[in-house]
Amino acid sequence: MQPLPYCETLLEGLATDGGLAVPVEFPSVDGETLERWRALTYPQLATEVLGLFATDIPREDLARMTAAAYEPFPEEVVPLRAIDGGLTLVGLSEGPTLAFKDMAMQFLGQVVEYALERTGSVLNVLGATSGDTGSAAEHALRGKERIAVFMLSPQGRMSTFQRAQMFSLDDANVHNIAVDGVFDDCQNLVKELAGDLDFKRAQHLGAVNSINLARITAQVVYYFWAWLRATDAGGWTELSFTVPSGNFGNILSGFYAKQMGLPIRRLVLAANENNVLDEFFRTGVYRPRSAAQTLATSSPSMDISKASNLERFVFELLDRDPERVVGAWRDLDAQGYVDLSAELARFEEEFGFVSGTSTHDDRLATIRAVHDATGDIIDPHTADGVKVAREHVESGVPMLVLETAKPEKFADTIREAIGVELEYSPELQAMLGAPQHVTELPDDAAALRAFIEEHALR
Ligand SMILES: *Cc1c(COP(=O)(O)O)cnc(C)c1O
Repeated sequence: MQPLPYCETLLEGLATDGGLAVPVEFPSVDGETLERWRALTYPQLATEVLGLFATDIPREDLARMTAAAYEPFPEEVVPLRAIDGGLTLVGLSEGPTLAFKDMAMQFLGQVVEYALERTGSVLNVLGATSGDTGSAAEHALRGKERIAVFMLSPQGRMSTFQRAQMFSLDDANVHNIAVDGVFDDCQNLVKELAGDLDFKRAQHLGAVNSINLARITAQVVYYFWAWLRATDAGGWTELSFTVPSGNFGNILSGFYAKQMGLPIRRLVLAANENNVLDEFFRTGVYRPRSAAQTLATSSPSMDISKASNLERFVFELLDRDPERVVGAWRDLDAQGYVDLSAELARFEEEFGFVSGTSTHDDRLATIRAVHDATGDIIDPHTADGVKVAREHVESGVPMLVLETAKPEKFADTIREAIGVELEYSPELQAMLGAPQHVTELPDDAAALRAFIEEHALR
């Protein structure tokens, strides 16, 4: 199989054989390099780490893009703070949409625009969202000359905050489309149009979804950053990360960082009630659930029962043997599950993965406990992480928990947990009160095609 340059994987996430794209090999980072990186700012570190993957982009171009990508963030970009029980939160939600998706999407906006300029082409991004991904994509791509965004969302099923975050954008290249249906209907419409290759080509359609390899590589950066901030110079301290997980994108990036040589001891996967991945890491059996079996929970961005990035871990688990991966996925299609329990001992020992589940009551109790102990308010997804992290703390090993969203996005659950009415900043109040821009369409592929044909860039 022909390896693809980084810039050619930006819009598909797929390799030339139809599987997911993965790095040909993991670049390795030694102790001396790590020590040298201690002095760097976040954008500088991002240039170093991403430069190991994006070998087809000149260094000075990459430096310009990382500077622009993290410009909307506070100066530290990713601040760390201690909470009770010896845990440290890694703040990934300081970007424009208050959730960790901004970390990768802001870079993706830069690099996609760059790749389009190099080839003189345009792109119409077509996606479906139930919340965080859509708004992160729109905020990263708004105002870009060569890119338009068509983002489908289920009519009336997003929170007031999520709706405002997307629909308040008035950029001409952002098209919000509320579909008369549920999230799966939106996703099916996207699949149908993207599967029509003539239409896809004629309309320059592309995606920036969670299997996107550029997003995965951009997320590797903050594992290095957090390690550098949480350890002392000269030491070779191992530490552990807990990651609130859904599609297995965020924690996969941590796994890639570990493969590159970053001293990570455990990668703790935190699931909510939709705990297919916890089941997988405990038993070695991966059994995706149907949309109908997927519960709507108070950590909605983790309500996923088919983890699109898991294939990338299985590829490493099966020693990068494409035939074994194809075999495993054939089993999955034929019987509805795949049994990898023969490899179970290696999950923790060799790769560092352990897992746990958190429920609605756990979230409320954890938000309350952290608030009582420190005065800090954490969001429900981060609370899932803190709950599961506490079960996996080992003495002498620092435990870092990724903060994947700000509590303001989930004010109802915060009120339920601690009775506090969150105050919105003036910027957020303005966003919530701004006029909204959205087109309502029926759950109908023909109507969507017509809309795209009328508004697509070409
Ligand atoms: C997307 C998201 C997650 C899950 O991340 P994955 O990469 O899908 O595992 C967790 N928390 C929040 C707030 C998110 O937006």
